[in-house]
Amino acid sequence: MACALLGGTVLAASGQTRVIAHRGYWNGVAGAQNSLASLREAARAGVYGSEFDVQLTKDSVAVVNHDDDIQGRVIAETTYPQLQQLRLKNGEVLPTLDAYLAAGKEQPGVQLILEIKPHKTAQEENTLVRLVVDRVKALGMERQVEYISFSLNVCRQLVAQTPSSSISYLRSDKAPKELYDWGINGIDYHYKVLEEQPEWIAEAHRWGMTVNAWTVNDDGHIRQLAEGQVDFITTDRPVDALSLLGGTPARRAANVTSAQ
Ligand code: MG
Repeated sequence: MACALLGGTVLAASGQTRVIAHRGYWNGVAGAQNSLASLREAARAGVYGSEFDVQLTKDSVAVVNHDDDIQGRVIAETTYPQLQQLRLKNGEVLPTLDAYLAAGKEQPGVQLILEIKPHKTAQEENTLVRLVVDRVKALGMERQVEYISFSLNVCRQLVAQTPSSSISYLRSDKAPKELYDWGINGIDYHYKVLEEQPEWIAEAHRWGMTVNAWTVNDDGHIRQLAEGQVDFITTDRPVDALSLLGGTPARRAANVTSAQ
């Protein structure tokens, strides 16, 4: 196991905790969250995974954006041709899911952590899950894409449609075993919840589930979660986290291989 020397102490668990860039690595040169550039920069940084958020437009196009509105337009009430006129902070067009997956396919060393946002109705969520899973399968990217959602309905739809995928629930309010019984194979919880209820980490591992903590930007919390055997941390500081956890390009490459 690789160990990192931090302030004179060896962080023994660091070899097991991998880094996911939250909305890509956007605060370097990429210049915009959830942009194609932020995905490429995350891959260049050598993280395990790059997270991004997917929403459905009025005309049923899956697009990549965190909020349910962008520059004053509600995504679910706006068509993609209208949204296409907008520009991200770095000048990119609002990416479609298709564009994002195509960019990800060019970066096979990075896992794509695909968050399906909750929508107002189950019907909208089900339409989006079907669309996303169909695209991922059509592109042969089932092993590179991992799914996360705050919506239990979305997670359960994913279990029904792509049961062998990595599927993690984000809302941080359920014991792991309850999710396991529904076929959900990971928890991706707010880091404070995991720090307050570390028994959920052990419970998840007991059922063969993965544990991810979001969104961890502070060095002390990153160290604490690594020591607590969390499998992944999602962070806005991916390069700093890699350095803190003692990752080496060779070890990270080995991790990606073992995950695929
Ligand atoms: Mg997200």
